Amino acid sequence: QVTIDKIAAGEVIERPASIVKELTENAIDAGATSIAVEIKEGGISFIRVTDNGCGIEKEDIPNAFLRHSTSKIRTAEDLAHIASLGFRGEALSSIAAVSQVELITKTKENTFGSSYRIEGGREAAFEDTGAPDGTTFLVRQLFYNTPARRKFLKTAMTEASHVGDLVMRLALSHPEISFQFYNNGQSKIHTSGNGNLKDVIYHIYGREIAGHLLEVNCETEGLKIRGYIGEPLISRGNRNFENYFINGRYIKSNIIAKAIEDAYKDFQMQHKYPFTVLHLTADTQAIDVNVHPTKMEIRFQNQQEIYKAVSEAVGRALHQEEL
Ligand code: ADP
Ligand code: MG
Repeated sequence: QVTIDKIAAGEVIERPASIVKELTENAIDAGATSIAVEIKEGGISFIRVTDNGCGIEKEDIPNAFLRHSTSKIRTAEDLAHIASLGFRGEALSSIAAVSQVELITKTKENTFGSSYRIEGGREAAFEDTGAPDGTTFLVRQLFYNTPARRKFLKTAMTEASHVGDLVMRLALSHPEISFQFYNNGQSKIHTSGNGNLKDVIYHIYGREIAGHLLEVNCETEGLKIRGYIGEPLISRGNRNFENYFINGRYIKSNIIAKAIEDAYKDFQMQHKYPFTVLHLTADTQAIDVNVHPTKMEIRFQNQQEIYKAVSEAVGRALHQEEL
C-alpha cells in the first residue's frame, strides 16, 4: 500500500503548491468560511492549512488517508453531478506517502478533537486533544523519503510564488471565503470573505494592475458570465492578468482568452491584454473538466458558443461605460 501510494503521489503531488491545492479544496468542500495557508521555505519544509469547516470524525480519520477513500461519492449517480472539487479520494494518501503529516480536527458535535500523525504513509500517533472546530493539516519535509523527486523542486522562492498564485486564485474564485496566506511568517494575502469580488481584486492586485473595473454580467442558456474587466494602467505583453474560472475552477483556455481580447480590441483600448476576472458558470454537460486532475486546460464541447458568449459579455461591459 505504501509503495503504491508513493507512485500514485507522483500523479497528484508535484510540488508544495499541489499539496496546498488539495488541502484547500478539501477545506472548501468541508464548508469552511475561513482558510489560512502558511508556508516556510516555499512549503518544502512546512505547510499549514487551517480551516473552520465541518471537521473529521475521529473514527473516519485513518480511513481518510487510505487511497480511493472519499466521503464525496456515495452512488454512481453522484459521479454524474459532482459539485465538490475533490472526488478522487487520493489526495490525503498521496500527501501522507511523501511527507510527514499531522492532522488536528474537531467537529462541532464533539467536545474533543483528535490529533493524528502519519509519516511516509504509516500511522505514528493518534490521540484526543482540545481543538477549535475545523481542521488543521501540517505537512512537513516534502519528499523526505523520495530524494529523486525532491531534486525537481525549484528554489524556495519559486515554490512560494506558486503557492501565492494558487491562494490568489482561490481568493478570486471564492470571495465569500476569507483567505489568509503567510510566507515565512509574513502576511501576504488576507481577504475579508465578505463576498465582494471587487474588494478581493483590489486587495490582491491594486489599482495599477486591475485598473478601472467594469462589471461583466451576462446570462445565456446554460452559461452565466460574471466578473470584471479592467483597463490596466500599465501596459504589459502577456495574458498573466486575464483570470477566468469555470464553475469555480481556475483554467487556461485559448478560446476564452481570444474572446476577451477580440472584444477588448473592438473598443480600441489602450493595450492588447486587459485585466479580467471572469466567473463562468456552465452546465457540466457542456464542459469536460476531467481532462487531467492537475491540469488547467479545459475542453469545451461547443467552442463557438463559449467564444460568442464571452466576447459578447465583455463587449457589453465595455459598451456600458461608453453610454
Ligand atoms: P477527496 O477529497 O477526493 O474525497 P481526499 O484524499 O482529498 O479525498 O480526502 C479524503 C477525505 O478526508 C475526504 O473525502 C473528507 O471526508 C476528508 N477530509 C479531508 N480534508 C478535510 C477537511 N479539511 N475537512 C473535513 N474533511 C476533510
Ligand atoms: Mg480532496
